[in-house]
Amino acid sequence: MSDCIFCKIINGEIPSDTVYETDSIKVFKDINPAAPVHLVIVPKVHIESINSLDDTNSEVAADCMLAAKKAAEISDISESGYRVISNCGEDAGQTVKHLHFHLIGGVSMGERIL
Ligand code: 5GP
Ligand code: ZN
Repeated sequence: MSDCIFCKIINGEIPSDTVYETDSIKVFKDINPAAPVHLVIVPKVHIESINSLDDTNSEVAADCMLAAKKAAEISDISESGYRVISNCGEDAGQTVKHLHFHLIGGVSMGERIL
């Protein structure tokens, strides 16, 4: 996807502060952090959102979850706790149409999600 910001980050066209990377995923710091730790986990293949996952491509979702665990360890928030969020579509406020998971931590967020 030539006009996708996250594809450009993945192929190096746009620089990013990379925290962790494998053959299938990349984890980098969010440019506008909402918490002391705010990372973005993206599959390297362009998939628009959770709505676009199916039997042929859902393996990357598991790769993203394992990357969340790894990135939490690297960021030293495994024990204190963290939240993983994927915004899907308009009501969720998805702004970048490339599947991604926010890893947020380093602050007490309480029990409420909204
Ligand atoms: P969404 O609202 O789509 O769930 O989240 C997109 C996230 O990507 C936002 O938190 C935003 O700050 C982040 N973001 C957008 N453009 C860039 C960029 O060029 N670099 C980085 N590192 N993060 C970005
Ligand atoms: Zn993309």
